[in-house]
Amino acid sequence: MNTERTRPLVGITLFSGREGHKVYTKVQYNYVQSVLDAGGLPWLIPTVADHAQATAYAAELDALVLTGGEDLNPLTYNTEPRVELGLTDLNRDRWEMALLEACDARDLPILGICRGVQVMNVARGGTLYQDIHAETGSTMGHAPIQNPMESLHHRISIDEGSLLRRIFETGDLVVNSFHHQAVRDIGNGLVVTARAADGTIEALEDGDRRFYLGVQFHAEALPPIDASYLRIFSALVDAAR
Ligand code: MN
Repeated sequence: MNTERTRPLVGITLFSGREGHKVYTKVQYNYVQSVLDAGGLPWLIPTVADHAQATAYAAELDALVLTGGEDLNPLTYNTEPRVELGLTDLNRDRWEMALLEACDARDLPILGICRGVQVMNVARGGTLYQDIHAETGSTMGHAPIQNPMESLHHRISIDEGSLLRRIFETGDLVVNSFHHQAVRDIGNGLVVTARAADGTIEALEDGDRRFYLGVQFHAEALPPIDASYLRIFSALVDAAR
């Protein structure tokens, strides 16, 4: 960590979207707020076409947050698209995987949220369900998109001995849920550490890394209703010190 900083520098990935005739790159502010409240210094990282820059970013960063957003393009895991597939951004997919691999090579603490856990899985050779209901037949709800982001929606069971269990100090956590995709085949070196009642994978970890954790729920949206959800960001920042 740069000695002129008192706070670890935490990269936060962004999405790009068209609004009328303009293209913006942005992220929901609650990611920034969570990193700030956890003691980190947020650094917003746009999609960069030149993947060589991933190494340059990784050299500066102390930790990385892969944020939520679009569905991954199934080309990233060699599968044809289903009709249920939502909005995709292949440039973002490829950039985030390059950035993740560069940060992973330095064993930086990495936290993936929602789409982020899916990126972490696909980057290690894993695959996704493009649509949970269509492909598994589960009738459990994972995407009440009419609800506010901080709406608690379902429980997850967290494995003993996992990083996530140590963070929340419970095996039974209530979370929000805004995803119709989920991890399918597990990537190399990853282990499932939390599931929903229908078997949907809600967390992945790599226990051989300093901090390599992806969760399917939106922890960044929950601290305003319950400060204990900030723990996941505090653990990331602490691991980066
Ligand atoms: Mn869920």
